[in-house]
Amino acid sequence: MAVAEAQPNVVVLPKTMAVGDLARALEVSVVDVIRGLVNMGVMASINQTIDFETASLVANELGFETKPEEEVAAPVEEEIETDIAPGKEILWTDEDSSKLKQRPPVVTVLGHVDHGKTSLLDAIRLTNVTAREAGGITQHIGAYQIEHNGRKVTFLDTPGHEAFTAMRARGAQVTDVAVLVVAADDGVQPQTVEAISHVRAAGVPIVVALNKIDRPDANADQVKAQLAEHGVTIEEYGGDTPLVPVSAKTKQGIEDLVEVVMLVADVADLKADPDRPAIGRVIEAHLDKGRGPVATVLVQTGTLERGDLVVAGTTFGKVRAMVDDKAKNVGRAEPSRPVEILGLPEVPEAGDVIRVVADEKAARALVARNARERAAGTAAAPPATLDEMFAQVKEGKAKELKIVLKVDVQGSLEAIKSALAKVPQNEVALSVIHDAVGDITESDLTLAAASGAVVIGFNTKMEAPARRVADSTKVDVRQYKVIYELLEDVQKALTGMLEPEMVESTLGHAEVRQIFTAGKTTIAGCMVVDGLVRRGAQARLIRAGAPVYDGKIATLRRIKDDVREVNAGLECGIVLEDHNDVQVGDVIECYVVQPKPR
Ligand code: GDP
Repeated sequence: MAVAEAQPNVVVLPKTMAVGDLARALEVSVVDVIRGLVNMGVMASINQTIDFETASLVANELGFETKPEEEVAAPVEEEIETDIAPGKEILWTDEDSSKLKQRPPVVTVLGHVDHGKTSLLDAIRLTNVTAREAGGITQHIGAYQIEHNGRKVTFLDTPGHEAFTAMRARGAQVTDVAVLVVAADDGVQPQTVEAISHVRAAGVPIVVALNKIDRPDANADQVKAQLAEHGVTIEEYGGDTPLVPVSAKTKQGIEDLVEVVMLVADVADLKADPDRPAIGRVIEAHLDKGRGPVATVLVQTGTLERGDLVVAGTTFGKVRAMVDDKAKNVGRAEPSRPVEILGLPEVPEAGDVIRVVADEKAARALVARNARERAAGTAAAPPATLDEMFAQVKEGKAKELKIVLKVDVQGSLEAIKSALAKVPQNEVALSVIHDAVGDITESDLTLAAASGAVVIGFNTKMEAPARRVADSTKVDVRQYKVIYELLEDVQKALTGMLEPEMVESTLGHAEVRQIFTAGKTTIAGCMVVDGLVRRGAQARLIRAGAPVYDGKIATLRRIKDDVREVNAGLECGIVLEDHNDVQVGDVIECYVVQPKPR
């Protein structure tokens, strides 16, 4: 302890931070921080934001010296700023193109429940186990890599589009190819359609795995026609989507499927530089009783090595050990290789960027920045609202308005879709990225959040989990009961004519204590009792509890001077615009009307 006092730890802190983030930055328990705050008379919860000064006092108590972020972090910050664009799929811009080498594709399997996603993932894994590995232990770490004809393919083994889109909503595009599983005996189902929308919105190429072809009631032609109806035209029908008939049960077609995935990946020309410090994504993370925080990481570029210092979201530490999907300890992980890493002091979140940093200083700066971004909610794709759209159209910036459309009945859905198709799209294109009959679900919201889309509901309700996502992501959800109004709003947004929703907020109240007259003008001698009053702001004159005038504050004076604002506790002279009937005892309520913040 004596040493620590002689050479206190210096921590770099941002201007404001959550209590939890301070604890993290200091690597002390939240309880200690809260206790420190309480001792200072500050009652704060873990998520509450405190300023640098308050944080410093607590940190000092705990034996740390603090520095404001700008002073030391600026150069690092700048480098990172250009390096990672929030919400962008490409995380690094400093890649040296001459060093790029081919990397294995990363594949996600999506489709309707019970169509065989899990069985297919298992079949692929088993079919491609090399003799050497056979009988060895494999473990589910959230992703696995197979080798096929000497080439590697990585499969994310959390099937389903929820995981896919949840990652994307956090700006993490980790999938190169999507395998859409459709059971040949059941055909295209609601979650198939949903999966198509999610993959489309992500711009990821699709390979259809027509599963369960061993079943006597398999009907391949029907599935192909249904897919075409939903905009997925397979190669056989003149489109560009490959379809491979498979059976996860008999293993028929599994090799072909992997082969086709390879071909699609080749077209995409996937590359990374294995000789740079690694950057990747956290696929899964949990707290293991024996091993501590464990994170499955997919390296996207560079090579991750044991001993590397890494930042993952808002935590950082040295990679103590790496374990692959065959439960083998490894020293290195190249691009597209999934590994479990040990050594982080805390469990990061799925979707977090993990990157190797040079030293602790850089690590702390990056952690602080990530924490700030997380608090501000900017780690996700920028949310679109109709109001923002309107503003962007006005500035000539917007190119596309994306919509997730949910409607109560099929008939209305068709009617709205065809009406939307007729809306003139001169400046801005309209794109319905997903439409379906039913209430607004969490999946709709994550899709919208990940894609920068607006959710439009017609005679629909919003499920509680969806409401929570809407609140946290600030996705614009507009509900309508009249088709005409829905169309009108969309049209206005497209042409930049949408009026933002206006809301009133009260600035303050002033009590009239005396009346003066100057010619015909009545001057109300007032005391500001709460908030403030502002010249030019809206004002309502309230007499005996009822408004008798609604207009503006024309002039505002303190003593003899014209002033812009007068705060609570001060006297002032107010002249209302075009209104002279003011009496002692009236209350002037000052307010502003502003576009609703979203
Ligand atoms: P998921 O919900 O999409 O992950 O589907 P599962 O992989 O759990 O499979 C659902 C059911 O379909 C299980 O009972 C599987 O045994 C069965 N199944 C999966 N693939 C096939 C197949 O190719 N043929 C047949 N006959 N059954 C299959």
